[in-house]
Amino acid sequence: MLAPGIEFPHFCAQCEDYPCVEACPVNALSVSKETGAVIVDSNTCIGCGKCIDACPGRIPHLHPKENKILICDLCGGDPQCVKVCQEGLWNVLRIVPRGNYSYKLYARTPEEIARDLAVKIFGEDGARYV
Ligand code: SF4
Ligand code: SF4
Ligand code: SF4
Repeated sequence: MLAPGIEFPHFCAQCEDYPCVEACPVNALSVSKETGAVIVDSNTCIGCGKCIDACPGRIPHLHPKENKILICDLCGGDPQCVKVCQEGLWNVLRIVPRGNYSYKLYARTPEEIARDLAVKIFGEDGARYV
């Protein structure tokens, strides 16, 4: 991103139809019945990147050395990122109950998120550099 100071978390949205899971050719991805999070079987993942292409937000991250995909697993239902954020009093991340709306709408690319944030922080003029 060209706009300075734009940093943001880029999380899995747990899309209701899980396109990443559908796209995996070796069934390395599954959905946790308890949390709805995507679970990666690292032993099975072949690092093909098809789940990244299938994700509307390009959220799965390919580990640069291990060549295995990384996706937020909600820490098994106890998100540590939320804890740290709350303990640090930033209060940006919160746990909210699952609602009756499309979660896929939250699966957005880093470019889309950065552009929106830049508009909020710098206004339309600042955003044209993103
Ligand atoms: S990168 Fe791994 S998890 Fe993603 S589609 Fe390929 S094999 Fe499946
Ligand atoms: S946001 Fe991306 S990684 Fe998460 S469930 Fe949707 S397609 Fe999969
Ligand atoms: S700390 Fe846990 S819940 Fe937060 S993004 Fe990482 S895996 Fe997901």
